[in-house]
Amino acid sequence: MGETELKIAELFYSIQGESSFAGYPCFFIRLADCNLRCTYCDTRYAYEEDHPYMHINQILAELQKYPGAIVEVTGGEPLLQKGVYPLLDKLLGTGRTVLLETNGSLSLADVPEDVIKIIDMKCPESGMHEHMDFDNFDLLTQKDEIKFVLSSRDDYNWAVQLVSQYNLENRATVTFSPVNSKLEPANLAAWILEDHLPVRLRLQLHTIIWPGKTKGY
Ligand code: SF4
Repeated sequence: MGETELKIAELFYSIQGESSFAGYPCFFIRLADCNLRCTYCDTRYAYEEDHPYMHINQILAELQKYPGAIVEVTGGEPLLQKGVYPLLDKLLGTGRTVLLETNGSLSLADVPEDVIKIIDMKCPESGMHEHMDFDNFDLLTQKDEIKFVLSSRDDYNWAVQLVSQYNLENRATVTFSPVNSKLEPANLAAWILEDHLPVRLRLQLHTIIWPGKTKGY
């Protein structure tokens, strides 16, 4: 396939639930395939099922049905497909706010500057933390976000150490989120307050609005 076609797991319109843009209507472009296998992955269908290729123009035509929405490119891991770069350029050309959520293992060097980058950092209990590319921290600006999804106190301690070592709060917005059913939000809130951390506690909005829903949120 050329760079004008991308393998798409799903396109959907929903409420943005996991960033500084949480709460806004958002058109999601979920690209198929992933190079990681996180223990808690809730989007396995993105890489375990077959998905069709779509031309960038088809994707843009779908986006036009949702005037005013911001747009998020996510996965799977969206940076695996070369077509993501022309897609991001075209999306920026529409004048929309464009978010890119990536798993932190691949370089962000070629991502257009105006895209709001959200790095979904993989902590030890994901089983994938050794795949993180810490050089990406040098490519972020304050409009970008680093999201730690935490399953336990050990994950929390690992994240706190990274925030301190790389001075992350001065590079981007840093958020800590609990993995559903593994870490109580109240415990995470207490730890953040006790340690006076310069991070934002974030809960997954879609799990509150649509509990039990597993796709298209
Ligand atoms: S990076 Fe995301 S899509 Fe890939 S395995 Fe981890 S949670 Fe699932």
